[in-house]
Order: sequence, then C-alpha cells, then structure tokens
Amino acid sequence: MALSNDREVTLDLLKNVVSRFVQERRWQKFHDLKNLAESICIEASDLLEIFQWCTTKESKILTKDSENIRCLSNELADVMIYCLAFADALQIDVAGSVLSKLKKDERRYPVSKCMEKVPRRKHSTGRKT
Ligand SMILES: [Mg+2]
Repeated sequence: MALSNDREVTLDLLKNVVSRFVQERRWQKFHDLKNLAESICIEASDLLEIFQWCTTKESKILTKDSENIRCLSNELADVMIYCLAFADALQIDVAGSVLSKLKKDERRYPVSKCMEKVPRRKHSTGRKT
C-alpha cells in the first residue's frame, strides 16, 4: 500500500515526489525562484478566493460542507506543492526552518505578553522576518 498520509510521509519524500513530477514534464526551466514565489502567492489567492465575500461566521458554515473542504484541500495542496518546490530549489530543510522560525516567534511573542492578544506590528522600513 502506498504511503499517503501525514503520519507516514516525510517532507523529504514529498519534496522528492514534487521534484520527480516536475522533472518528468521537463518543467524545471519554468521553476525559477521568482516563478515559484509568484506561484505560491497565486495559489494562496485561490485558497482565499473560496472565502471571498464571506463573513467570518459564513466562512465557518462554508467549511462544514464536504465539497468546500475538498476544494480547500486542493488549493492548500497547490500552495504546499509550490512551497516544497521552492524549498527544494534552495535546499531548505523545511522542518528545521519551521521549527527555527517558531523558536524565534516564541521569543518575539512570549505567551506572558501575547495571550489572547493579536500582536501588532510596529511600522518600520526594515526587513520583515
Ligand atoms: Mg489552485
């Protein structure tokens, strides 16, 4: 039986499956970092479009429908496929990167100061990380 869920499939395996999919079609020439970053945003917009014009309350109702969940799952997969391709292109270790960023965010947004508060970003011209 093929591996097919989060408990069985590693990020490394997913990166390899995406890479093989791209190579089989000889799409590498289209997968430069700019195009991949744009594609992540475009697919994220597809995900957001499902909620377009919904109130928060309506969005919660929308996600009780299995067809809507299927559409959301497909759009999330599109986003993640491009994210994995982007990570693969730069040889980014996704798990290490996410865990490292969460550590940084824990220091930036300590529970003692951020419990049930939406963090407000200070306006700056500096680089956001
Ligand atoms: Mg899509």
